[in-house]
Amino acid sequence: MNEVFTGSFTQQEPIPDAGIQAAMRVLQSGRLHRYNVAEGEHGETALLEQEFAASVGSKYCLAVASGGYAMATALRSVGIKAGDKVLTNAFTLAPVPGAIASVGGVPIFVGVSRDLTIDLDDLEAKADQADVLMLSHMRGHMCDMDRLMAICNAANITVIEDCAHTMGAKWGDMYSGRHGVMGCYSCQTYKHVNSGEGGLLVSDDDELMARAIMLSGSYMLFERHLAGPPKEAFAQIKYETPNISGRMDHLRAAILRPQLADLDTQVQRWNDRYVAVEDGLKDTPGLTVVQRHEKETYVGSSIQFLLEGWSGVAVNDAIARCAARGVELKWFGGAEPVAFTSRYDSWRYAPSEAMPATDEILRGIVDMRLPLTFSVADCAMIARIIRAEVSAVYQTMAM
Ligand SMILES: *Cc1c(COP(=O)(O)O)cnc(C)c1O
Repeated sequence: MNEVFTGSFTQQEPIPDAGIQAAMRVLQSGRLHRYNVAEGEHGETALLEQEFAASVGSKYCLAVASGGYAMATALRSVGIKAGDKVLTNAFTLAPVPGAIASVGGVPIFVGVSRDLTIDLDDLEAKADQADVLMLSHMRGHMCDMDRLMAICNAANITVIEDCAHTMGAKWGDMYSGRHGVMGCYSCQTYKHVNSGEGGLLVSDDDELMARAIMLSGSYMLFERHLAGPPKEAFAQIKYETPNISGRMDHLRAAILRPQLADLDTQVQRWNDRYVAVEDGLKDTPGLTVVQRHEKETYVGSSIQFLLEGWSGVAVNDAIARCAARGVELKWFGGAEPVAFTSRYDSWRYAPSEAMPATDEILRGIVDMRLPLTFSVADCAMIARIIRAEVSAVYQTMAM
């Protein structure tokens, strides 16, 4: 009998009890707006910002409405205006070029390498084309950050990091989001903490964070921030910065604080599951496991592998056979965007030169979510199913 997996690839864990209770207290208080606080009260949002800044070692943090809003705010804070070019990954998700487009910026796509990170040779070649890089740590894969920062520093490129898939991840001793001038995180249901929607922005820069706080809609109440720059930083900025409302409310912050406190435990649980799948897939004929850099501490909330040189028909066949046994894979390389888009040529509002080497890699990328509702044993079974079905299709290809 063939094994069939019956778990759901989109089912997350419940919100921890402490988060539910904190959310109930906010609801009972009626004070949901972040600046609506009682005498002597800081409010959940300011406390979340303070705790997140402390956890990644940044001076400042701002909680906002979404990860996409955090990225657009970072771009505005560094001064991107209509028509400005912004370097970014050819392999990422739609909110990334979308954030650039939302401020009128023009994405310049940089290729992807076989380890699914930004192609640093291509970045070097394109370094004279823009002053800002929106670096997406897509699917939690971090490039050689030492080399990336050397390239960007030499070319005077300001780096903003999209850490939607790297909350809790590190390069060496430094948390993801701390190499660039600003780091952007998402608290959306499918990321590493879950408030439905939400985002976080971190920085050490007084001026950039003062701008971001004004942009988010602080109604001159910036002194109520516990993780914001001193009020002197706002002296001019408060007159010159438009309000583009995108604040986080107390309810979401209340849900997030206990999750943040648990993040290290959750990261370990994700990685136990990731390793179970990775171990089960190693040495599968026709399948390439993605390499990780030794300086990278990742969060395995999803896993990718490559079916290199496979035809679209063969990839779809393998995916359909896995689906029939309950294993939901996504082909990121598919030409038509389905339910998600992750390749540069899907975004026709942002035309790009062709990148044949990148296209070749994109065509082979298969992705799978690893929700924490799966057990380690589930993950081992999932790997057995993928291994069997990929091998079966590969054998027919070889004939
Ligand atoms: C989810 C995601 C974002 C943005 O998150 P939202 O909170 O949904 O706006 C940014 N980048 C990547 C790579 C993502 O997957």
